[in-house]
Amino acid sequence: MNSEISESAGADAMFFIFDTTPEGRVLVTASRATIPSAAEAEEFRDYLTACGPVSKCDGGDMWGAAGPILAQREDCVFVSRRELPGMFGHNLFKRSCTAYQMMNLTVKNKFCGACGAPMRDHAADRARFCPECGNTVYPVLAAAVIVAVEKDGMLLLGRNVNFPPDRYSVLAGFVEPGETLEEAARREVYEESRVVIKNVRYFGNQPWPFPNSMMFGFNADWESGEPTPDEHEITDVRWFEPTSLPNLPPPISISRKLINGWLERVAGHI
Ligand SMILES: [Zn+2]
Repeated sequence: MNSEISESAGADAMFFIFDTTPEGRVLVTASRATIPSAAEAEEFRDYLTACGPVSKCDGGDMWGAAGPILAQREDCVFVSRRELPGMFGHNLFKRSCTAYQMMNLTVKNKFCGACGAPMRDHAADRARFCPECGNTVYPVLAAAVIVAVEKDGMLLLGRNVNFPPDRYSVLAGFVEPGETLEEAARREVYEESRVVIKNVRYFGNQPWPFPNSMMFGFNADWESGEPTPDEHEITDVRWFEPTSLPNLPPPISISRKLINGWLERVAGHI
């Protein structure tokens, strides 16, 4: 580990250490139930396979990639980043997600994908750079659209094959190269439900780094078609009334914000 990193960290800087699961769970010290401060980096030095600064120009947060032995320490537990807003507030959740993506940028780009030479941090940008061939790799931000489709006071919700039991949400999917966001919204809703939409209107956006999505939310109106699941990603899709909603996504998600926005409009309450 680079000792200069911990020495340069600010007093309120955090040290976000992630395990190797796809979820990217973050380390919390069991004794004090906190994210360790960057100043405590020294204690974890021998347990990390890599670490580095989240940014060269802000508060000094650090990321660390945990080796398998760290999970065996009884004074440390790894928790899902999805739990952080409830445990420590939204600001710390957001910082942890930035740290997670900066960790992935580094540990997944040790070597150049074009020529195989070792890569290093870019001198100026948040990027990895190959000094042999000039290849520059930026953090992955996968653009995705999420769409709340309305019809006569009802909302279109689908059940994704990966959802918890009984969970439904508004439909979503990744943007394809060359598409506008609105085109992606129309295509994804049609592919997953066979519903054609119109009046696609921008709602808002949200980074969703599980592992690297950038979500763009839209409202839209039904134009034609009966909800029919694709049976591949979506196992059920149907119209829901405000008074008979199923198990919904958590409040931190833009999908829930879209649903709550619709509820406020059609029912006057959340
Ligand atoms: Zn190269």
